[in-house]
Amino acid sequence: MHKDDSKIIRNQVPRSDKREHSAPLYLTSSFIFDSAEQGRAIFAEEEEGMVYSRYSNPNTDEFIQKVCIMEGAEAGLSFSSGMAAVFASFAAFIHSGDHIVSSRAIFGSTHQLFTQLFPRWGVTTTYVDGVDKAQWENAIQENTKIIFLESPSNPGLELVDLEWLGSFKEKYPHILLIIDNCFATPYLQKPLQYGFDLSIHSATKYMDGQGRVLGGVTVGKKELIDTMMFFIRHTGPSMSPFNAWLISKSLDTLGLRMDRHCSNALALAEALENNAEIEDVKYPFLPSHPQYELAKKQMKAGGGIVTFVVKGGFERAKNFIDHLEMILCTSNLGDNRSIVTHPASTTHSKLSEEERLNLGIKPGSIRLSVGLEDKEDIIADVTNALDQTK
Ligand SMILES: *Cc1c(COP(=O)(O)O)cnc(C)c1O
Repeated sequence: MHKDDSKIIRNQVPRSDKREHSAPLYLTSSFIFDSAEQGRAIFAEEEEGMVYSRYSNPNTDEFIQKVCIMEGAEAGLSFSSGMAAVFASFAAFIHSGDHIVSSRAIFGSTHQLFTQLFPRWGVTTTYVDGVDKAQWENAIQENTKIIFLESPSNPGLELVDLEWLGSFKEKYPHILLIIDNCFATPYLQKPLQYGFDLSIHSATKYMDGQGRVLGGVTVGKKELIDTMMFFIRHTGPSMSPFNAWLISKSLDTLGLRMDRHCSNALALAEALENNAEIEDVKYPFLPSHPQYELAKKQMKAGGGIVTFVVKGGFERAKNFIDHLEMILCTSNLGDNRSIVTHPASTTHSKLSEEERLNLGIKPGSIRLSVGLEDKEDIIADVTNALDQTK
């Protein structure tokens, strides 16, 4: 039996009679039935076969299978974007009157789902500080249907103890445990092994890894994925075959790329720890991180994001960004090119100052998605911009 790395690279749509070596792109909306009888049998689910690319397609199947291998999942579904995956992973299960418990440090659009859209349909959410175990316990209600979190969080890089939260399944078997595992990737963190039901990714980030296309994926227990399948068949948030073909090829190098993202990020974090212009630097694999031991336990390496606070606050932070030469400012992450973001004036600008501080975002906080360039060039760009804005 091959090891996972080999299985991921070797997993490919069945070869056609053209004998191609690399997986072809199946741009087709529908699939032909050999006979009217076969059409009937496939629709009746007596026979397996593809019908229509809203349901499945050879390229999306290949992509999903690779993510399932990486994450140790029984089944999965692909989506047009990370948010389509997040939305479907809730909408397929919640009913009016249900309740969600979520860590409060979550992706902005997921926060809008919980606070603006779901309440319209009678679904409420209680936020907890993901680090505080007592708050998780206290937030559970009789009507709690889903427990949700991100770890490491964005941009504070706080962790939730996955093994501990996974043990909630014994006490509350009816509650679904769902994680947005996008920051860690399935290469660094495998939450299903702790009893989580579903793991979601924005494939736009590290999975594509080159800032080209949007995509999303949810993997987990087969029975739950089957329930979600009904939802996506009839609502249509499906991934395009082109995006699946592209991201599937990128998955072949995910592990290699993550090793480099992580070693570059650790080198930058270490360099910044000793820089007099920096107030604070957070990276899960720095021994100074308050949850360093937990990070070592549940993650293979610290990930590609480093968050730090420059001295001089809001204006210094913006000035610092404008003085970077190589690293560009754009709202994406997980790209092969390093990317800088100022959360207080962009991704988290709609929050109050107090809400931001609760999430560990200070006026001078900078989020750096560390790319695959030579680590010395990344460190030099950051330290030069710090020196020039003293
Ligand atoms: C980017 C991101 C999303 C949304 O993904 P899209 O592909 O942009 O829709 C969701 N969760 C996290 C943690 C993200 O970083």
